[in-house]
Amino acid sequence: MTATRTLRQALRAPKDLDLTAVDPRGRPVGPRDKKAAADAMTELGERLGAQQEALYAEAAGGGHRAVLLVLQGMDTSGKGGVIEHAAGLINPQGLHIASFKKPTSEELAHDFLWRIRRQVPAAGMIGVFDRSHYEDVLVVRVNGLVPELEWRSRYGAIRDFEGELAAAGVAIVKCMLHISPEEQQARLLARLDDPAKRWKYNPGDVDVRGRWADYRAAYTGALRETDSDVAPWYIVPADRKWYRNWAVSALLAETLEEMAPQYPPPSYDVAVERRRVEASTVR
Ligand code: AMP
Ligand code: MG
Repeated sequence: MTATRTLRQALRAPKDLDLTAVDPRGRPVGPRDKKAAADAMTELGERLGAQQEALYAEAAGGGHRAVLLVLQGMDTSGKGGVIEHAAGLINPQGLHIASFKKPTSEELAHDFLWRIRRQVPAAGMIGVFDRSHYEDVLVVRVNGLVPELEWRSRYGAIRDFEGELAAAGVAIVKCMLHISPEEQQARLLARLDDPAKRWKYNPGDVDVRGRWADYRAAYTGALRETDSDVAPWYIVPADRKWYRNWAVSALLAETLEEMAPQYPPPSYDVAVERRRVEASTVR
């Protein structure tokens, strides 16, 4: 009998990553259907809630650790859905969500990591990046926004940056939401057909879609160059929304459980304070 692989082992991007070999409808481990996933999400919510509270408390007691979840993926792959359903299991007070759009002129006047550094989660927080510094080696590469020498140099800059974060106590979890072009087409059509979804549709998405192979090459390069044990990349099969949401939630839960955040010891004498509260009166 073969040992059961953990989710992190099953989804971890291999060194010789070939995205054409990863099934966007795959379910390598975990729930087999939507009903089982819903049950698993309830249990994950409890685990995440407990760990998040301990992480927050640890920081209140002077701890410096935090978590950073990086979400990347093609349009419609479900970055927003993951924030709603996976990050949504977590107490909003402990969440820091940052979305990275086309850079403003102010952002462009700085190094590409400037706007990213400003959104790094503080101690005790769970940060979520909806797109990230990886756009600077993805859309920037595909659209030739900077010369090749420059975007290539960013791989090293990203490795250094993430190494620095990890050394400062930030546990990094990077997820590429892996969707098929067929599923993306269906989701784009659904956005056009439903008046309540039309605001999410951007005519430019079709042009991006037309360069699927270029994006696949850019993702492959970025993931191969920046996967490391302190900042691992996971390929999350994303054609099934329930599997995608479960997988990201479970990756977060596994990461937090490994961190095992600790409630700080009280800075006062509990027995003394008990007696004071019992003896206290109000006027
Ligand atoms: P969305 O996340 O769908 O709202 O779209 C945000 C858009 O901003 C996408 O088309 C991204 O490719 C684009 N974007 C994000 N970061 C960058 C960047 N550093 N350079 C150029 N475009 C970017
Ligand atoms: Mg979009």
